[in-house]
Amino acid sequence: MPKAALLERIKRGMFLLDGAMGTQLIARGVDVGTCNDYLNVSSPGIVCDVHRDYVQAGSDAVITNTFGANEYALARHGLGEQVADINKAAAQIARRAATEQRYVLGDIGPSGDFLEPLGRLKADELRDAFARQAESLLAGGADGLLIETMTALDEVTIAVEAAKSAGSGLPVLASMSFDKVGDSFKTMMGVGLEDAAAKLVSLGVEAVGFNCGTATLDEYVALAEKLVSAVSKLSDEVIVFAEPNAGKPQQVEDEVLYKVSPEEFAEAAEKIHNAGVSVIGGCCGTSPGHIEAVAKRIRKTA
Ligand SMILES: [Zn+2]
Repeated sequence: MPKAALLERIKRGMFLLDGAMGTQLIARGVDVGTCNDYLNVSSPGIVCDVHRDYVQAGSDAVITNTFGANEYALARHGLGEQVADINKAAAQIARRAATEQRYVLGDIGPSGDFLEPLGRLKADELRDAFARQAESLLAGGADGLLIETMTALDEVTIAVEAAKSAGSGLPVLASMSFDKVGDSFKTMMGVGLEDAAAKLVSLGVEAVGFNCGTATLDEYVALAEKLVSAVSKLSDEVIVFAEPNAGKPQQVEDEVLYKVSPEEFAEAAEKIHNAGVSVIGGCCGTSPGHIEAVAKRIRKTA
C-alpha cells in the first residue's frame, strides 16, 4: 500500500518522531564541538546509523541532522557557503534510513542571533536564508518541514513564512522552547504560550508544538495540557506536537546531563498523549531507548 501523505498520516493519530541526534553522534565517536551538520557531507554513514536506530526503535519519522544548517549557524564554522549541499545531503541520508515506509522531516533551527534592533539580523536576509535551507531539504526528499527550538516570535514568523513559500503545500510543523515561569510557560524571549499558539496558528502551520526547555517531566505534561487547550480554542485542524527533553537538565561538573530513564520518559509521554497530543518525540537527552519505550507504552493502547 502506498504511504499516505504526511499530513493525512499525522491526522490519523499517534505519530512517533525521533529523539536527540547530538548525543547519539558523540556516542559514535564524533568529537564534542564538531559541526554536526557538516557530518551529512563528511560522514553520512554515521548520521544514517543514528536515523536507522530511531527507525528500528519505532519512529514514524526521522528528523534531518540540520538543526544548525542555516547560513548563519554554518558561517560560525566557516561553512556558510554550503547550505544547499549540507541540507540536501541530510535529507537524502534521512530518506535512505527512513525508506519509503517512514517519513522525513527537514529540521530548521534558530539562526542563533536576533533580528534588528535587538540583534544584527535583517528580516529579508533571514527570510532568504530560511527559504534556501527549506528548499534544499525538500530537494533532498523531505516530506515536510519542522521548525524547532524557537524562542522569538519575529524569528519563528519569518521561518514559517519562508518554509511555507518553499514548501508548495507540504506540511510545516513549528515548535518553540518554553520554560516554566510562575504559573505559566514562556520562552527565553518572554513569549507566552497563548501568544505563540495564536501567532503560529494564524501563520497557517499544520502543527504547533513545544520542544527542549528546562522543565521537569511533570511540567511538560502541564505544558502539553495548556498548549492543547490554547490551540483547540483557535482551530479544529491544527495538530499539537511535543518533543520534551528527558527531564530537567542537571549540571554535573562541566557536563549537562539528562537523567530520566526510558520508562519514566514513556510514562510522561503517555500522559502527554492522553492530554490530546498525538505527535510525540524527544529532544535533548533522549535516545532510541526512550523512543522505543514510548512506542511500546503508547502503541499498545493506540
Ligand atoms: Zn533539546
